Amino acid sequence: MSKSNANSEFISRNLARVAPSATMAVTQAAREMKAKGIDVISLGAGEPDFDTPDHIKAAASEAIAAGKTNYTNVDGISELKEQICYKFQRDNGLSYSFEQVNVSPGGKPVLFNALLATLNAGDEVIVPAPCWVSYPEMVRMVGGTPIIVKSESANGFKLSPAQLEDAITPRTKWLMLNSPSNPTGACYSRDELTALGEVLLRHPHVLVLTDDIYEHLVYDGFEFFTIAQVVPELYERTLTMNGVSKAYAMTGWRIGYGAGPEWLIRAMAKVMGQSTSNPCSVSQWAAVAALSGPHDFIAEWNKAYTARRNYVVKALNAIDGLTCLTPDGAFYVYPDCNDWIGQTTASGTLLSTDVDIAEAVLRESHIALVPGTAFHSSPHLRLSYATDMNSLKEACSRLSAFAKNLI
Ligand code: PMP
Ligand code: GLU
Repeated sequence: MSKSNANSEFISRNLARVAPSATMAVTQAAREMKAKGIDVISLGAGEPDFDTPDHIKAAASEAIAAGKTNYTNVDGISELKEQICYKFQRDNGLSYSFEQVNVSPGGKPVLFNALLATLNAGDEVIVPAPCWVSYPEMVRMVGGTPIIVKSESANGFKLSPAQLEDAITPRTKWLMLNSPSNPTGACYSRDELTALGEVLLRHPHVLVLTDDIYEHLVYDGFEFFTIAQVVPELYERTLTMNGVSKAYAMTGWRIGYGAGPEWLIRAMAKVMGQSTSNPCSVSQWAAVAALSGPHDFIAEWNKAYTARRNYVVKALNAIDGLTCLTPDGAFYVYPDCNDWIGQTTASGTLLSTDVDIAEAVLRESHIALVPGTAFHSSPHLRLSYATDMNSLKEACSRLSAFAKNLI
């Protein structure tokens, strides 16, 4: 065998079609620069800066002390499924039995396992864009075809019913929805979901995968709804995915969950039984404490997120060449940076794309952010404001200086 990088012919055709995760890459690049002593402000990764609450950590310690460290049911312990069923009833008015619930090692695997369990080569998945980096790539990884449907800022970055109708073909298997959205923070109202639902009711072969992981991160009184709740006729063909990563600041614990039709949940458990087995037993007990425990800290955190969002939106709109909507949820803002395209930075770099901009901002201003290209909509930049206010102020002042030096 020859040198390692000459071995790419061994990579499967499906994986060769897949782009690496840009959000993971930018986070890694920022970490490496920090390790070299460079003062990088990390607005790349979408991860709460808050610590996991103490009562959740305590539940994990108790689980370890009590020896709850063995394999569990492949798709989750019944104590956690019980809490998930309560959660769906309490927050979303949705009733599920344990047989309709899947617990996976993070939100990502819930989505991935559902796609792996259902897609055949050439099956189409409608992905409204701007979309989270991983959706199209997961679809490709398992041999499906992502159909990326772009929406513009004028539509609040939301898929319209007409766009959905146009995108559906006999090969459509899934529509993926994500509200609040990563990367735009856009949230679908009850009426908007109802209108999309009306289209879906005309196409009974289309399943719906809704990623509600940012459900609790909504601001200014926005009322969250999920599609199976708003259009009950879709209940039988919807997988409602959620997780503890964002709302409870538990990204590293790796617990996500989904609820949907029994046939799908069984198929997803089959995938797990032959691949990952159960999610970490200790993390599952921590998630029981998260879902069943007090939720008042979420309102406190949301106050901080709201103040940060308000600051960042105003500061970005004051920078020459950036325009930015005020999103209803998640912890991202998604400014348009079209006016910077074609300009040259202080150190002589020509900015031809938003990837060039993100790289130049990292190299010259030491701010990590993610280019819109990664989310299939350019030219944009995604900034995560899940970090402290001082860092956000410093980042905006560095961006302002970056803009002033463009020629
Ligand atoms: N969906 C969206 C929209 C996300 O932003 C994330 C964040 N990584 C996930 C799913 C995955 O969450 P987890 O870290 O629980 O896998
Ligand atoms: N969801 C986060 C983000 O978009 C975490 C990284 C990832 O899983 O992609 O930054």
